[in-house]
Amino acid sequence: MATIYYEKDADRSVLADRKVAILGYGSQGHAHALNLADSGIDVRVGLREGSSSRAKATEAGLKVTSVAEAAAEADVIMILLPDTEQQAVFEADIRPNLAAGDAILFAHGFNVRFGYVVAPDDVDVAMVAPKGPGHLVRRTYTEGGGVPALIAVSQDPTGGAHALALAYADAIGGTRAGVLETTFEEETETDLFGEQVVLCGGLSALVQAGFETLVGAGYQPESAYFECLHELKLIVDLMYEQGISGMRYSISTTAEYGDLTRGPRIINDAVRAEMRKVLGEIQDGTFAEEFIGEVRGGGANFTALREAGKAHQVEQVGAELRSMMPWIAAGKVRVEDASGGD
Ligand code: NAD
Ligand code: MG
Repeated sequence: MATIYYEKDADRSVLADRKVAILGYGSQGHAHALNLADSGIDVRVGLREGSSSRAKATEAGLKVTSVAEAAAEADVIMILLPDTEQQAVFEADIRPNLAAGDAILFAHGFNVRFGYVVAPDDVDVAMVAPKGPGHLVRRTYTEGGGVPALIAVSQDPTGGAHALALAYADAIGGTRAGVLETTFEEETETDLFGEQVVLCGGLSALVQAGFETLVGAGYQPESAYFECLHELKLIVDLMYEQGISGMRYSISTTAEYGDLTRGPRIINDAVRAEMRKVLGEIQDGTFAEEFIGEVRGGGANFTALREAGKAHQVEQVGAELRSMMPWIAAGKVRVEDASGGD
């Protein structure tokens, strides 16, 4: 069985005499900084000169310094910068400001798992990774709840890294929902696999392919949109609340029979073989190398793929149909909230 920690398991006092730096004020950064401050933790936010987030963080009542100053002042440094930027910022602004016994924390294991950030031996390295977007980490905390989190320790020269990570998870609200013990390897590899194969990559491609198949067969794009995209949320909500069997209980027997007999023909052995291949590329570092290389090389292919996705017919049809359902847009996460500022 997995080890899951709750509020009673965390000792918040281990954070009482620590100074925490939150580097970055985007999706995760703003949520961690504000939750820690509300939990009474001594926190400062490290941002670039000229960052538009400086004003936002200052208005929110937080102390803002440069990244290097924050790293120097604090003895617990949470790195909430884009994964592609962490290595350069670590070498320029964090490493020179580390002292023995400091702790560096991550919200995703990517840079440690793939060797882009290698901390000195006398520094604790741990992860507190909320399993949800930053705006939810903040909102659920203010509502008295929390987003589940994963914790892991990869370096523990002080012997206190685990207790520190758990206290941090507690202070941002994670222990209210459950904090799962994992490793940097497991978190990084399962996170990448999930987003590539199921949550983002697999799902987007499934929706687009279903839509294209219906439209290609002469059906109205609007029908295809409702069928392949709009209804998805209703089905996912049922799965989220009651599992796959619970979802099947709520749909018609016609839908259930089609699900059970046709689903395995779509996600067939060839698809499963490709899933294992994608997992292999994650495990052997091929994906990480490709992604970091793409971004460092200017990201032309990345941008072209993103633009092609935006130009897909399902987006045009969807934008029109959603404009007739303003209540959907009213509940949406604003892009600015989700992705943070600069
Ligand atoms: P983000 O892009 O929303 O925010 C990044 C912040 O870093 C911004 O404030 C940006 O201005 C700042 N920044 C960018 N480059 C910088 C640089 N060179 N120097 C200084 N500041 C710089 O990022 P995020 O989505 O919050 O991700 C942060 C970390 O959290 C990543 O490791 C990510 O994998 C992890 N994570 C994110 C989510 C999520 O919901 N977004 C969930 C779990 C874990
Ligand atoms: Mg993820």
